[in-house]
Amino acid sequence: MNMPFIDLKTPYLNDKDEFLKAIESVLNSTEFIMGKEIGVLENALAKYCDTKHAIACSSGTDALLLSLMALDIGPEDEIITTPFTFIASAEVISFLKAKPVFVDIKEDDYTLDPNKLKRAITPKTKAIMPVSLYGQCPDMDEINEIAKKKSIPVIEDGAQSFGAEYKGKKSLSLSTIGCTSFFPSKPLGCYGDGGALLLNDDNLAKKIKMLLNHGQESRYKHEYIGINGRLDTIQAAILNVKLKRFKKELKKRNEVAKRYDKALSALCITPKVNEHKTSVYAQYSIRVKDRDRVIKHLNEKKIPTAIHYPIPLHLQPAFFYLGYKKGDFPVSEQISSEILSLPMSPYLKKEDQEQIIASLKEVL
Ligand SMILES: *Cc1c(COP(=O)(O)O)cnc(C)c1O
Repeated sequence: MNMPFIDLKTPYLNDKDEFLKAIESVLNSTEFIMGKEIGVLENALAKYCDTKHAIACSSGTDALLLSLMALDIGPEDEIITTPFTFIASAEVISFLKAKPVFVDIKEDDYTLDPNKLKRAITPKTKAIMPVSLYGQCPDMDEINEIAKKKSIPVIEDGAQSFGAEYKGKKSLSLSTIGCTSFFPSKPLGCYGDGGALLLNDDNLAKKIKMLLNHGQESRYKHEYIGINGRLDTIQAAILNVKLKRFKKELKKRNEVAKRYDKALSALCITPKVNEHKTSVYAQYSIRVKDRDRVIKHLNEKKIPTAIHYPIPLHLQPAFFYLGYKKGDFPVSEQISSEILSLPMSPYLKKEDQEQIIASLKEVL
């Protein structure tokens, strides 16, 4: 069997009985929607991240959408994010007819550059949405300080960073609202779509809980225009099993990353984890000059790779209407032309990793 880019099979097989038991328990209860496993999960997530509230929802994209809906974001509003991210970060802004305003990233850890943030803020700015890319938080203190001066809420897109730390605090607990994803390949993944919002504000939490359930608190009494944004009970049951293994998996992710660092840091630009930060290595992404040649060589050795992300959002056809042009965000453009993600998972076999490293040494 060829090595997978992310090994989703091994963790399932390792604890198959426990996963099947958790699923069967939901099937027996017939509480497919809003079953008791949802509450168990939410309590565990809030405890893990040290926030007052955790709210499970249908996906990371919906978590971002719900956070903007809870802040009443709509037409005329501007939301600041980076162009070097997955489309969902900006997609939800456009979906609400608000305007994504891009700010370039830092060259060292690829997160929103606080030094470029201030001049992007206008009277129309209603939220700032930094992205914790590849599993590492942005410079949240600097971003929060700028936001606080203008009373602008901050939403962390932490879809890739569940478990990461910033100055000893957990990602998703650092801003007004933290949004994460449980897409199968994320650091904490379920077996379908899922996500969560983490926050401390009681009023926002109450509103988000209503918004994700058609704007209702009690059945058929609708206070807001909401969505169907609930997490399936089966996915919550699976996540409750996965959470028990999570600490151990994070440790293994870091061990895999350390082995890559050691072997590759002299040959290419390896991920930089900045002071006061930890990474959960949602991706292990290197930068190489002649990327096509490197990919071709690795593919010939049956080593899978991925590019996160090949086209920055301001150059995506879907965002042409915003009027940005090539050259507007030089760091994002440069990084997207060089970045290359290598196989990464807590279950990456040592011999597979050795083969990846040996093949890279041949070509770099
Ligand atoms: C995966 C991801 C999302 C979307 O999460 P889904 O659960 O797939 O909807 C949003 N932002 C970033 C940065 C992501 O990596």
